[in-house]
Parts: sequence; C-alpha cells; structure tokens
Amino acid sequence: MEKDADGFYTPAPAAKEKTPEQSVEDKEAATDLVKSTFEVSVTLADQQGDPNSPLHSVKTFEQLGLHADLLKGIFAMGFSKPSKIQERALPLLLSNPPQNMIGQSQSGTGKTAAFVLTMLSRVDFSKNKPQALCLAPARELARQIMSVVVAMGKYTPVQTEYAIKDNLPRGAAPITAHIVVGTPGTMTDLIRRKVLDVSEVKVFVLDEADNMLDQDGLGEQTLRVKNMLPRNSVQIILFSATFPDHVRNFASKFAPSANKIELKKNELSVDNIRQFYMDCRNEEHKYEVLVSLYHLLTIGQSIIFCQHRHTADRISQRMTAEGHKVASLHGAKDAAERDAIIDGFREGRNKVLITTNVIARGIDILQVNMVVNYDLPFLNERDNSANKEDARPDIETYIHRIGRTGRFGRKGISVNFVHDKATWAQMEQIEAATGKHIIRIATNDLDEME
Ligand code: ADP
Repeated sequence: MEKDADGFYTPAPAAKEKTPEQSVEDKEAATDLVKSTFEVSVTLADQQGDPNSPLHSVKTFEQLGLHADLLKGIFAMGFSKPSKIQERALPLLLSNPPQNMIGQSQSGTGKTAAFVLTMLSRVDFSKNKPQALCLAPARELARQIMSVVVAMGKYTPVQTEYAIKDNLPRGAAPITAHIVVGTPGTMTDLIRRKVLDVSEVKVFVLDEADNMLDQDGLGEQTLRVKNMLPRNSVQIILFSATFPDHVRNFASKFAPSANKIELKKNELSVDNIRQFYMDCRNEEHKYEVLVSLYHLLTIGQSIIFCQHRHTADRISQRMTAEGHKVASLHGAKDAAERDAIIDGFREGRNKVLITTNVIARGIDILQVNMVVNYDLPFLNERDNSANKEDARPDIETYIHRIGRTGRFGRKGISVNFVHDKATWAQMEQIEAATGKHIIRIATNDLDEME
C-alpha cells in the first residue's frame, strides 16, 4: 500500500471477527444503545440531574455485552455504572466490524476504562502474541494505564508487557504478552529489534492523542509505530480531553472514518474544579506565597507545576532545606527514580509534588485536591523563545494540569500565580479560551479557599 503526502497509509475497514449475521445483530444493538443514550439521557435527566454532567449515566455495564470475567473486574474496581463517555464510546468501540474512534471527554471522566475495556475485549487469550498496543506520552502514565489493564483484567488470563525505557534488556526474548503499553520511542525500538512482533495487533490506542500526534512533539514517533502495524486490520482509538484545531485534521487521517465524540469549547474543563489566581509581586514573592500555602497544600495532596526542570529542583531543594516535606519529579531524573517518586506520591508518603509538564496529563490520583500553576504553561515558540513577553499560553496543557484534581466528580482547586504583565495576559487568554472565570485571592487571605 502507498503512503500519502503526510506519510499515512490508508487502511481499509478493519477485519471482521464474527459472522455477518452476528455483526449485524451486534451493530444494531450498539446503534440502539447509542441512540437511546443520546435521546433518553435528556428525558431521564429531568429525573436524574444535569443531563450535561459528564458523569450522567443511565445505562449499565451489563448492557454493553461485555464478557462476564471483565464485568467481574469492573465491579471489583468499584465501578457500578458507566460514565457518560463510557456509555457513549463503549458501544461504538465494541461493535463489529471494529471501527476507529476519536473520543474527547474531560479529564477524569473515565476514558481510560473505555479503551482498556476495548483492548481486553478484543484480545484472544489463547494466542500468546501481542494484540493490543497502547501509547502514552510519559512513563508515569503508561504505568498507570497498565495498572488499570491489570485491575480490569484480574479475572481474565491477560498477560501484559511494558514498552518503557529500562524495562526490557538488550537481547530480550520476543514478547508473548497480549497487551503492550508504553511510550513511542521504546515501542518503536522494540518493534525494530523484533522483540515486539506486531503481526497480530488488532487494536492501537493513543491516550492523550492530541499530544501524541503533535508534530512539534511525539507525532513523528507515533506515526512511525503506526506505519509498522498491519495495514488493514487495526482498530485505531484516539482519546484526549483536548483536540486543538491544528491536530484535528491529522487525527482524522491517522484514524480514518472514525466515530467521533467531541466536546464544545466551553465544556473542556469540568465545573467541579474551582479556579483561582494569586497576584504575586515578582519571582521571589511567588516562592514566599507557595511556602505560605504549605499547610493548605498538605491538607490533601497537591501538585505544583513549573515550566522548567531547574525551577522544580530549585524550589523543592529550598523548601526541603527550610524543613518542608516535598518531592520533585521531572524527565531528567532516571527511570528508577521517577518510578519511586510517583509511587511514593501515589501512596501518600509525599503530599506535595513539584513537577513539570511531564505529568500534566493523565495522572489519576484521587487525593489530589489542589493544583498550583507556579508558572503558567506557555508555548515554547521556536522563533520567538527569547521574547517571554509575547509567549502564548498553552491552553491545552493548562486544561490537563488542572485536571489532575477534581477526578470523577470530586471537588478540586487550582491556583495560578501571576506576577507580571506577560503572565496576566496569559491568564486572560486562558480565561477567554476556556470560558471559565478565574477568581482572585489575596495572597494574605487563604480562608476563602478552605
Ligand atoms: P480520564 O482517562 O478520562 O482522565 P480515568 O479513566 O483516569 O479518566 O478515570 C478517572 C477516575 O474515575 C479513575 O480513578 C477511575 O478509576 C474512576 N472511574 C472511571 N470510570 C468509572 C466508573 N464508571 N465508575 C466509578 N469510577 C470510575
């Protein structure tokens, strides 16, 4: 098959697994479920609350026709009803013949479970070959996704393997696991070294898909993985809370003829995260304000985002020297250290994590009730990087960062530090783009937030 100008192969519809009669039945059932989801939710909404809540759910997991062992896994995880994105996406994802999906839903609304269930449903456990691949932008997220695969697949014979740095040594035997989760560089490497045989792969998932496809970032590596997969038979699943215009077209080519679930621009973040800002005098004052917040930061757990690694290191070293307990995490630390830090935070041994955009996306730690944007996220424009005054805010990263709190309907707080004209302008642009008001809190008045 030929590649087109953008380097895409154009696959035909994915392979059928069932008889034509079964497929028609499945498809009709799925269509009915989807139809009723859209139509019925409005009617039932009068009785059951806000129809626009991303968690509004009227359907059951049983109705999705999942295997009994998977249902057992879901219920063991404490899920009783599908969330709105699960309710809408799962019938489409599970129907036969498999269809591609581009799915958008706010942070913390259950996208992971939707694609993990799809991978687990499509694997043939009698074949000891990789059949589902999932890519994420960072090892922390890949490890988290794997924990969901393992938990949901607890009652199935699923075998899993990581494609993350320092996991498989040189000369490792070919992978026999059914599901492989990792980051794109290592996944490419494993395929090239023939440790990962992709000939039986039938599902390819990109979590944080807009980030994975971004031409200024991981796009090239992700495309490389895709172009090594079988041509005509892979179901491509893209999920994210954000799909900015500049990656939408690319996404549609990457996952041709996909079913699409989209959010309106003013629905991008959930309302259960209250957004504040604090007016700081200068960089040094930002540090003082952060320290004055320490008590508040440790009531639950909190994540402090900086733009650069050296800032994360500097403020964590300074706070530690002043007797506060904080941890710092960024991409320059080695793999084992990164794993130990995120695990320590996940287990609550550290309550304050100072970090960079490396964990801005996907990380799901329910106890995180506060996010601080010590630096607002801005785009590093190559041609303009010297001029910080004009730096444009990175709206998508902002939405993902604050989405580390307020998971699955919980309450959360985000606080932005602004300290000069440039950061003011950036925050105003974030407000305009998200359509959400950000409330001022005086740096000496923290009661308002408590
Ligand atoms: P997203 O991928 O959309 O950011 P996640 O899949 O990480 O969201 O889900 C957020 C949290 O909600 C997780 O802790 C997950 O276990 C939980 N969750 C997901 N689906 C359900 C459900 N149907 N019922 C209860 N909890 C759920």
